[in-house]
Amino acid sequence: MTSEGKPRGYIQPAKLEEVWFHTGTSCNLSCPFCLEGSKPGDDRIQFLLFEDARPWIDEAVELGVEKFSFTGGEPFVNPHFPRILDYALDRRPCLVLTNATDPLLNRMDKILPLLEKPNPLSFRVSLDHPDPERHDASRGKGNFRKALDTLGRLHRAGFGVSLARLASEFPDRAYLPFLEEAGLPPDIRIVTFPDLKLPGENPEVPEITENCMTTYLDREKREAFMCNFSKMVVKIDGRVSVYACTLVDDDPDFDLGESLAEAMEKRVMLKHHRCYSCFAFGASCSER
Ligand code: SF4
Repeated sequence: MTSEGKPRGYIQPAKLEEVWFHTGTSCNLSCPFCLEGSKPGDDRIQFLLFEDARPWIDEAVELGVEKFSFTGGEPFVNPHFPRILDYALDRRPCLVLTNATDPLLNRMDKILPLLEKPNPLSFRVSLDHPDPERHDASRGKGNFRKALDTLGRLHRAGFGVSLARLASEFPDRAYLPFLEEAGLPPDIRIVTFPDLKLPGENPEVPEITENCMTTYLDREKREAFMCNFSKMVVKIDGRVSVYACTLVDDDPDFDLGESLAEAMEKRVMLKHHRCYSCFAFGASCSER
């Protein structure tokens, strides 16, 4: 129930299409707005080991999952990540969210052979604003150009590519000159994130009732909530478990246990402040 005693809005998950893995909150950068609070050496969410990931990949495949995605932190900071990715790519298409700076560049010789895998690999690179100076103010001098060049290189090599940005006054078309410069397609997919606040923050937002879910959203919009078709595997305090989605790993109420099959049975009550971003702005990490 909401604080006013009304039935709270919820999602009853349908089919498991995507499984996301959190590779750990350690990152080579420390962007002040990071929705994961990632920074060098951070271990709020710990490095996922190959042995941690394998049973979940196997269970997901048994359940008919269509895709694996990986986020951090910066996945390529996790020394165990390449082995996890290699195993996952033998089974399903994979998406990696990356800042496309030194950790990825240092592994380029290991990444290029992944083009030969039976399933495709794509990368989503963060370019926060179509303004290099503003991007670099958070991510460090020169990192806009480095990420843009890496994105172009990955595209020319044959990997799928997309771009992640922050919501701002700039329209998507402001990226066009940079896309052209890097040899990237002008219609590259751009995923925009609203301000989701830092982990552990608790901004006041309207509560979502059952009535809100049916009055303001149609079936298609309800089905687009990530908790409807995806789950995320995380390692916290040495325990690997599955969370309702990629956005709520700072609230143990969204820890759905140690089995994907059981997690998909559980109704997700939309009580996290980020649930309101899904409801009001269609926030989603997925490229579905
Ligand atoms: S943040 Fe969004 S996807 Fe995650 S549980 Fe809430 S509504 Fe579902």
